[in-house]
Amino acid sequence: MSDKNTTVITGAGISGVHAAESLRKGGYQGRIVLMDRDRQMPYDRPPLSKEWITGEVDESSVLLRDPAIYEKLDIDLKLGVEVTDIDSVRKTIDTKDGSSYEWEKLMLATGSTLRTLSIAGDDLQGIFYLRRMADAIAMKQHIEHVKDAVIIGAGFIGAELASSLSQLGIKVTIVEMASYPMENIVGREVSEYFLDLHRRNGVDVITEDSVTQFNGETTVEEAVTAEGRRIPCQAVIIGVGVSPNTEVSHPQLEVEGGYAVNEYGETSVPDIYAAGDCTSWPYHGSPIHVEHWDHAVNHAKTVAQNMIQPQSVPYTYTPYFWSEQHGSRFQYFGHAKRWSKTVLRGSIESNTFTNFYLNDQNIVQAAFISNQSKNALPVRRMIQQQKAIDPDALADESVALKKMQRRLI
Ligand SMILES: Cc1cc2nc3c(=O)[nH]c(=O)nc-3n(C[C@H](O)[C@H](O)[C@H](O)COP(=O)(O)OP(=O)(O)OC[C@H]3O[C@@H](n4cnc5c(N)ncnc54)[C@H](O)[C@@H]3O)c2cc1C
Repeated sequence: MSDKNTTVITGAGISGVHAAESLRKGGYQGRIVLMDRDRQMPYDRPPLSKEWITGEVDESSVLLRDPAIYEKLDIDLKLGVEVTDIDSVRKTIDTKDGSSYEWEKLMLATGSTLRTLSIAGDDLQGIFYLRRMADAIAMKQHIEHVKDAVIIGAGFIGAELASSLSQLGIKVTIVEMASYPMENIVGREVSEYFLDLHRRNGVDVITEDSVTQFNGETTVEEAVTAEGRRIPCQAVIIGVGVSPNTEVSHPQLEVEGGYAVNEYGETSVPDIYAAGDCTSWPYHGSPIHVEHWDHAVNHAKTVAQNMIQPQSVPYTYTPYFWSEQHGSRFQYFGHAKRWSKTVLRGSIESNTFTNFYLNDQNIVQAAFISNQSKNALPVRRMIQQQKAIDPDALADESVALKKMQRRLI
């Protein structure tokens, strides 16, 4: 078999692993090379801020697949290999170690890059970001003897870590620049709910402030804020978001909020595909970018099918993510950067509610579900249908969501 009969997948994260597996299971008979710059066997990321950091599961249960699977499926897994360049004419990629690989088709599944902050004293020990397993291991070892931790950023990762560290008996202070964390995603009411949830569970949440300095001898001992607060801490975790990782570039490769792909996962360069966090993809006619586990899995599976049989399966997917904090389970369906009104179903006080985000035509664009998993399926359907709905019926818990179709207006 010539090396040209090869599919190279760059990134063995959630997308890369699912793509490799789907290619093989879908009947692809060429060589599959799955490479990652990380040296760890491919692992899952969501547990790192949840059950792994709290010690409820061990390292092996975080692996995406049993290591034997790669050999069984004849997937050539290359770890500790960083792709640096693409040549689309010779159809090769170069790696940092000086090797070059030929490909018939190439998938970019490079995920996200952490946003970082530059703060005086950030070279002290005990200051972490969380993206990779190596980060998680270092953090876990360090926090074993920590009493107070500061988390910078009240996004989902910061909020989950606040919950997990509190569960471990650590006194957590979150410092967040915004007045209402994640308001642009969940709206004011749900943002206030999050603030309250954390405070009720012993987390000190400081808003409208930012950390400007860390003090300490060798390890961090306090965080100083712009408003002059001095917060004692022996650990700091910075969670200020991520951006699509498009470091592997090519002059013809269109990048706009991620590698721009069409509904088949094709980039602007023939035979180069992309999937997962590193992409922007068409949703209801406009390109969007999400950083969700479920998208990474489903996108990769669909794109792999199109790599086997070009333009055979368009990707029509309703974005979905979940989060777990202080014993509550949250789910979010759809995608809404703006909305005209929100409709609350259930009661925020009871922790059990669904908040809908509607456009000016009363079409549900997105929904946030708190501890109401039974609503997940009808909500997903509602968003897929994109039909106007009676907001009063939506708010009325005596009208079953699955019957809401009859209340379309
Ligand atoms: C701590 C944590 C908790 C999360 N919790 C949730 C959750 O509860 N719910 C949810 O929906 N989502 C969650 N997410 C997000 C979810 O994990 C991501 O959306 C998902 O990992 C994206 O998968 P991916 O394959 O696109 O990218 P990744 O999983 O990031 O994989 C990309 C891979 O590409 C590799 N790579 C990058 N560049 C190169 C290169 N040049 N050469 C070789 N390899 C390269 C990287 O090393 C990495 O392994 C969480 C993320 C984190 C970090």
